[in-house]
Amino acid sequence: EPGLDAALALIADVPDFPEPGILFKDITPLLADHSALTAVIGALAAPGRDADGRPVVDKVLGMESRGFILGAPVALALGVGFVPVRKAGKLPRATYAVSYSLEYGEATLEVHQDALQPGDRVLLVDDVLATGGTARATVDLVGQCGATVHGIAMLMELGFLSGRDALGDVPLTTLLTV
Ligand code: 5GP
Repeated sequence: EPGLDAALALIADVPDFPEPGILFKDITPLLADHSALTAVIGALAAPGRDADGRPVVDKVLGMESRGFILGAPVALALGVGFVPVRKAGKLPRATYAVSYSLEYGEATLEVHQDALQPGDRVLLVDDVLATGGTARATVDLVGQCGATVHGIAMLMELGFLSGRDALGDVPLTTLLTV
């Protein structure tokens, strides 16, 4: 990917956010740069293609809320629709729900029950893999829908938290490990 390293270099470290002791990775400078955003969206879409570059997923799922920002353009790049995975109480119709623990706190994620069809293959997109709790919960939501996770694409993996271990054999692609 031309420019991918330069794009990832725009991610800013913010100490003690949102709590003391957390080093937050701020992707907003990357999002604000058109070349960087283009390179990153292309790289995140790659796990949704076969060796010939053809899209092989039926939907892209993005996790609230930075997964929305990245996931919707990945869906457009692949020529498929986008499904939001939201925090509890935000989706208006019948949902499936999974609760999990976050790097900082607890959360429940939901998806509309009719968002996926049984047998659909999906690509999950988010910005950061920390403990893996969010990704694990989303994989479980996809399972409740009777669909299959083809892959997970993330900007960044916090290697010291070993979130990858929570994902079993689901293929995980991250553009940067810190
Ligand atoms: P996990 O569930 O893997 O512990 O945490 C991942 C979730 O928390 C993702 O949705 C991600 O957006 C958010 N997150 C955790 N740490 C960071 C961080 O340092 N920077 C950003 N941008 N998001 C984070």
